[in-house]
Amino acid sequence: VYGKKIDEPKTAKLTYNQLHSVEYELANATLLTLVRNKELEDIVFTIRQIEETWNHQFHYPYTFMNDEEFTEEFKQTVKRHTSGECYFAVIPSAMWAKPAHIDATKQKQGVAKLQDNKVQYAGMESYHNMCRFNSGLFYHLEELKKFKWYWRFEPATNYFCHVDYDIFKFMEDNNKTYGFTISLYDDPLTVETLWPVTLDYIRANPHSVNPNGAFKWLTDVNQNPDITKQANGYSTCHFWSNFEVANMDFYRDEPYSKWFDALDKNGGFYYERWGDAPVHSIGVGLFEDKSKVHWFRDIGYHHSPYSNCPNSERCSRCKKGDFANSELDNQNCLSNWIKYEMTFKDLQQY
Ligand code: GDP
Ligand code: MN
Repeated sequence: VYGKKIDEPKTAKLTYNQLHSVEYELANATLLTLVRNKELEDIVFTIRQIEETWNHQFHYPYTFMNDEEFTEEFKQTVKRHTSGECYFAVIPSAMWAKPAHIDATKQKQGVAKLQDNKVQYAGMESYHNMCRFNSGLFYHLEELKKFKWYWRFEPATNYFCHVDYDIFKFMEDNNKTYGFTISLYDDPLTVETLWPVTLDYIRANPHSVNPNGAFKWLTDVNQNPDITKQANGYSTCHFWSNFEVANMDFYRDEPYSKWFDALDKNGGFYYERWGDAPVHSIGVGLFEDKSKVHWFRDIGYHHSPYSNCPNSERCSRCKKGDFANSELDNQNCLSNWIKYEMTFKDLQQY
């Protein structure tokens, strides 16, 4: 798959030309980012690339989320660089701040253990808030209720390839729920009890599990037995969530949202450092049909320190075929997804 030239999708009806046909209706979708005022320059850097490679053809709206008010300067500046409507959402503190049931002593002990092991952001409470919010709360924001689809993006990320079809319509037309570009192992210390807590939940709620879930991918022990052992049975392989395109109704529906409530009650977002990427991935892997997950191999993308750079003429400014520099290559677990869960149809069709 890697060596092959990528020139996708083959589905002619999804190309740009469709836009010039009489009645092109956008999907019910928004570009979405959680961002701080001080990241203005970095978010503009990324918006310019999203516009240049994709959104100038469609003018999808943007939603900017923040736990504080955006400054006038922030709002005016992003508006100058976006071709779609801009919405600004201030996150209510009930969705952002640490919930009252978190035990301060347990949190302190948990953080200390992570810090002893040099886990990044362990002592930064806002990072834990962010992971919890992105895992199970953002899609309840008043400003997002009207939308079904989102494309998450982050400040200072790169989009390298021209994509001339409507990504949201692609998801809709092909009955997809979740799309990603990069898939990685996680630091097992950040999610030590995420899998056992999840198993408790599904033992109590066995019918919530999708019979065609991505179980092998979630529990693989072959590629990285030590990691899977440390994470108590979870391979830690996850879709990197700093780029993702997904249907929020999946999160809003009971299987995912009830499971998230159980995770939240457990407190692992604060006692450990459960990330929204493994949470989304386990949620999708357990509660959705694996055929509804799509690997966007044609979206050239970089978030430090990893890239997805397709071997295609549509991509500029990245090294073709690049994943990362070699010492980081062993973090890549995309091959597990392809090997265990990707359907033949998904490999062939688009
Ligand atoms: P990393 O990718 O795991 O290193 O984490 P980032 O620092 O990139 O944070 C993930 C996303 O959340 C980025 O879009 C950040 O801009 C955003 N973010 C992180 N912390 C905060 C915060 O305290 N407030 C706001 N508004 N956004 C945040
Ligand atoms: Mn980031």
